[in-house]
Amino acid sequence: MTFLPDKIEKVEDWLKHHDGRFAYIADPINVYYLTHFKCDPHERFLGLFLFPDRDPFMVCPELEVGQARASSFGREVIGYRDDQDPWAIVGAALASRKTVSGKIYLEPSTLPYKKVLALKTLYNDAPLASIENLLATMRNIKDKDELAAMKKAGEMADYAVGLGIEAIKKGRTERAIIAEIEYELAKHGYSEMAFDTMVLTGENSAAPHGYPGTRQIKEGDFVLFDLGVVIDGYCSDITRTVCYKYASDEQRKIYRTCLQANKAAIKAAQQGLRIGDLDGVARKIITDAGYGDYFTHRLGHGLGLGEHEEPSMSAANDGTLAAGMVFTVEPGIYVPEVGGVRIEDDVYLSEDGPVTLTHYPKELQIIS
Ligand code: MN
Ligand code: MN
Repeated sequence: MTFLPDKIEKVEDWLKHHDGRFAYIADPINVYYLTHFKCDPHERFLGLFLFPDRDPFMVCPELEVGQARASSFGREVIGYRDDQDPWAIVGAALASRKTVSGKIYLEPSTLPYKKVLALKTLYNDAPLASIENLLATMRNIKDKDELAAMKKAGEMADYAVGLGIEAIKKGRTERAIIAEIEYELAKHGYSEMAFDTMVLTGENSAAPHGYPGTRQIKEGDFVLFDLGVVIDGYCSDITRTVCYKYASDEQRKIYRTCLQANKAAIKAAQQGLRIGDLDGVARKIITDAGYGDYFTHRLGHGLGLGEHEEPSMSAANDGTLAAGMVFTVEPGIYVPEVGGVRIEDDVYLSEDGPVTLTHYPKELQIIS
């Protein structure tokens, strides 16, 4: 792939214009974004060091050096053994770059304070600053390779919802349905889920972030599936809700309202629209139907290498939609004791308008 060096160059260029001494990227997701080197270092050290005008380098565990060198990074990779102090190696490599002054850019949300202290022993006087906004902004706009992975992730999410709906049976527990979905996916080679698969039934579905358990499916239940599959590091995130055996008038009204809000918000997604106003499109429909107090979360979130990324699709977001963004549209209505409905799609905003990446049918299904 040829696009990755561009990403590193973009960071280098940004450092040039922002008084950067160097950037220390430690979040494995950002390292993957910039290099396609996939590494979960656990407690071991992983660091990608980028400079405004020096050669970059990466320090990683010796056991992963081969994979790092085979990645799209294509620059210096330095390994360390478990009996070596990685910070001594980092210090020597940094010293060899002979930087003089400027800010050290970090990822404050994910970098452990212990590592900040270690860096401080090397550069006691250098000002520290955050590079997270730059990386979030870059990750926000997907290129064609990223989009291809996300399309496939969306297709697999559709498939997984279908597996879950097939697994619905009287008396079956939420946990058992999750096991069926993930077993079938794994048999086909898809074993990385974007987050813990959620199956919530009956009154449990009224908790937007509920925990699946041993509740057994009963007639008249809502059954809510929220899941995502990871393809080449990129996540999908879909929610579908069905009814088991029959649906009451109130359940039908809740469902109809939620679906209308989902469709209207997807349709309204256009370049330049204030993000908060897109939340408003869905919220108005739900509020007008009398369920405003039961739509207790934002419309959605950005999606990509992370299952939740920028932008936050909330009423308070004054940012605007731009071509290349991928985000979720997931209105929900949660009525205590009755149950909840959420309908979530992944939307890619193309130059020509919104394109959904998840396609599982949305009309109310009554499973018999
Ligand atoms: Mn979801
Ligand atoms: Mn979501």
